[in-house]
Amino acid sequence: MKIAEIFKSIQGEGIYAGVEQVFVRLFGCNLKCSFCDTPLERYDEKSVSQIVSEVRQFGKVHSISLTGGEPLMQIEDLIELSKSLKNEGYLLYLETNGILYENLTKVIEYIDIIAMDFKLPTTTDQQSLWEDHREFLKIAKGKDVFVKVVIGKLTQIGDVLEALKIIKDIKSDLTLVLQPENPFEHALGGKVAFFKMLAKLHGMNIKVIPQKHKQLGIR
Ligand code: SF4
Repeated sequence: MKIAEIFKSIQGEGIYAGVEQVFVRLFGCNLKCSFCDTPLERYDEKSVSQIVSEVRQFGKVHSISLTGGEPLMQIEDLIELSKSLKNEGYLLYLETNGILYENLTKVIEYIDIIAMDFKLPTTTDQQSLWEDHREFLKIAKGKDVFVKVVIGKLTQIGDVLEALKIIKDIKSDLTLVLQPENPFEHALGGKVAFFKMLAKLHGMNIKVIPQKHKQLGIR
């Protein structure tokens, strides 16, 4: 597999922020988000058994984060890795940009928690990905899943309303996490508070959670 890095830290994002995890960062991504801060310049080729043995050396943790890049891009290897890690008794936490739904179907039986992004066209400068996100969430909804949306200066109310509509249609009790693009930029506070109020008016479970690892200055 193409592996960018393996390390132990705390989860910095979403509703599991603060739990201890081993992060297995798979190389490569199918998107180019403007705010991407993931180091994806280099990778090492590692076998599944090598990865499992490295993970084992970190000892007991809450779960293993299969992250990227986009981990579902290396789907055949990801299936083998997930099977092996499940056999070792680990809880598996998939961090994904929420697009490759056909690949999700192939691996979902081994995954326990799904941290799924909705990529908003106005913050990522991408084409609209709503239909992919909709299909993805239909498959993910049987698992412990939450959706994360990054709120930046350019985020429009229409984006947030579309995200709320999809969630309401598919899994209305799901938690939507609003994550300010920059945890230190207080100017975003008003915007995030407004979107939070909007989501509450729609009867949604909503949390505002800035990136904890950045606030703490850790990896
Ligand atoms: S999906 Fe994630 S890893 Fe890929 S470009 Fe966007 S922020 Fe970076």
